[in-house]
Amino acid sequence: MNLALLFDDDFIAEDRARLTGRRLAHLRSVLKAGTGDQVPVGRVNGRMGMGEVLRLSDTEAELRVQLTQLPPPALPLTLVLAMPRPKMFRRVLQTCASLGVKDLWLIHSYKVEKSFWQTPWLSEPHLRENLTLGLEQARDTVMPRVQVRQRFKPFVEDELPGLLAGRQGWVAHPGTATPCPVHVNAPALLCIGPEGGFTPYEVGKLEEAGCQGVHLGPRILRVETAVPVLVSRLFDACR
Ligand code: SAM
Repeated sequence: MNLALLFDDDFIAEDRARLTGRRLAHLRSVLKAGTGDQVPVGRVNGRMGMGEVLRLSDTEAELRVQLTQLPPPALPLTLVLAMPRPKMFRRVLQTCASLGVKDLWLIHSYKVEKSFWQTPWLSEPHLRENLTLGLEQARDTVMPRVQVRQRFKPFVEDELPGLLAGRQGWVAHPGTATPCPVHVNAPALLCIGPEGGFTPYEVGKLEEAGCQGVHLGPRILRVETAVPVLVSRLFDACR
């Protein structure tokens, strides 16, 4: 936690917030903060700054916060991800939030097991919790929007063309002819397949909708690795 993300419920006054639970435990045991110490904080979907610890007990910490700094720029990326298996899903969510993805679409695909959609990690509180962990890791405050589409064909035929308006689109698929471009730094849409990959039919449909097939070389990467590799090829984080 490189920043404690504060939600509206945490605020007891314009410049005062209370931390409890996980964030309090982190403050005490990892940051080893005491009264008078300053810790990095941010308000969800708002500014970032510092919080001075005014009071610290076993159950809560009260902070005086000064929020003056803008969060880092968002990636101009719409990420379309075939629903990963639950074990990997939490990590992928956190990674997406840390990388600055703000627009995430979770879609069905032939090799996504139906049971993946039953995972409790898709519930609103769990989505928020994991996205919060990713934002706190990267020092960002802007909560990504996650949309779920459990039918591949209607999504690709009816919604994808609209999402592609004004942006370049790619589908990452091993064995395609074109290497994934680098330093694009412009509005983009990227599709990443499931553990078993997109089927040829699905790649064809994504291409028909306007996504170009791109590859990352002969090494087949896990989804959780492919996401940061693809994002860091397309966008320069340290410009
Ligand atoms: N056996 C699957 C296949 O050949 O498509 C492997 C799928 S891979 C574990 C999961 C997803 O990560 C792929 O669908 C693709 O979107 C992306 N990916 C992983 N390695 C890749 C590579 N070398 N080139 C392009 N995309 C890759």
